[in-house]
Amino acid sequence: MTGVELSALTKDYPGGVRAVDGLDLAVPDGAFFALLGPSGCGKTTLLRTVAGLETATSGTVRIGDRDVTRLPPGRRDVGMVFQDYALFPHMTVADNIAYPLRIKKAGKAERHAAAARVAASLGLADLLGRRPAELSGGQQQRVALARAMAARPKVFLLDEPLSNLDARLRLEARTFLKKLQHELGVTTLFVTHDQAEALAMADLIAVMEAGRIRQLGTPAEVFRRPANLFVASFIGSTPMNLVDARVVDGLVEAAGARLPSPVRVVGDEAGESLVYGVRPEYLDFSPVPVDGAFHGRVVVVENLGTSSLTTLETGGGVLVHVVVPEDAEPRPGDEGWAVPRPGRSLLYRGGELMTDD
Ligand code: ATP
Repeated sequence: MTGVELSALTKDYPGGVRAVDGLDLAVPDGAFFALLGPSGCGKTTLLRTVAGLETATSGTVRIGDRDVTRLPPGRRDVGMVFQDYALFPHMTVADNIAYPLRIKKAGKAERHAAAARVAASLGLADLLGRRPAELSGGQQQRVALARAMAARPKVFLLDEPLSNLDARLRLEARTFLKKLQHELGVTTLFVTHDQAEALAMADLIAVMEAGRIRQLGTPAEVFRRPANLFVASFIGSTPMNLVDARVVDGLVEAAGARLPSPVRVVGDEAGESLVYGVRPEYLDFSPVPVDGAFHGRVVVVENLGTSSLTTLETGGGVLVHVVVPEDAEPRPGDEGWAVPRPGRSLLYRGGELMTDD
């Protein structure tokens, strides 16, 4: 078993900055695990503390069945890939890849064999004699991965490894990395601020804010049922509609619409200010009146290729975004209704998701 387990982990920097705040986290053996959050939420610090590049202020880090909290990086059995790849510019690709084995004092023949094997599996066999400056961004990224793999670590730690690639290469690298991780089955912690990247690649996502985890779940869970308004507004390429609401006579009133409640209404919600959430993808557009729908006038239509992101402005001035298929694209000025799909809307009280459990 080589999962990663963090208990009550805190990291303070000099000057009173608490970057990681009493965090508990269990990364299952073999998982592809994303640490996701906005800039400054502590993701990189958390990763560096697991790697041993930062020392925990308090709490423990376990890798597999070992407590590594006080061990130096070289004795933790982790392979790390940095955002800028940190390749040695004066060394060839082969020497870069073999470097961790040199540190482990492996013999020359063993180093070369391992470098060649890893290079072949990453499509780098023809580039072994080049130096980093003679490689594309995507190739440099693969060399950095190969170097991390060469020492056969128990855990991979990747800090925004795709952020230096252009948009097209990044998509290719995503698929490549996900496939590779599944083939190797090595527990991988992956830092990103890009929610689409985390959703596309990870088996599990921890969404972080201010040194803490606000939700841990599968991509489907954090996308469909964000546990709080922070996660709801952070996840999704088109932001979730979050509309002030209240419960009246068993129905949710939001932006002039009377909608079925997503949760069993027990009565004590009456008079409380709530937030109704529904993703633009989970609203259906209708050009004719429908009950239980937001009603307004189309003010903006953004082309998304096979669909459009259509914005309705309700009588009260609330903007509601709807993803509309290409065959039914409305035009600015049209009247329209946006109907929430059953089971796809959410209600938040005090910023937290309401549930029936
Ligand atoms: P980004 O996505 O911008 O890299 P992040 O989520 O990885 O952000 P961290 O780099 O871990 O966040 O930073 C967390 C907090 O700790 C921030 O407030 C940051 O300013 C602070 N911080 C990071 N490194 C140091 C340091 N060496 N000394 C003091 N404060 C630091």
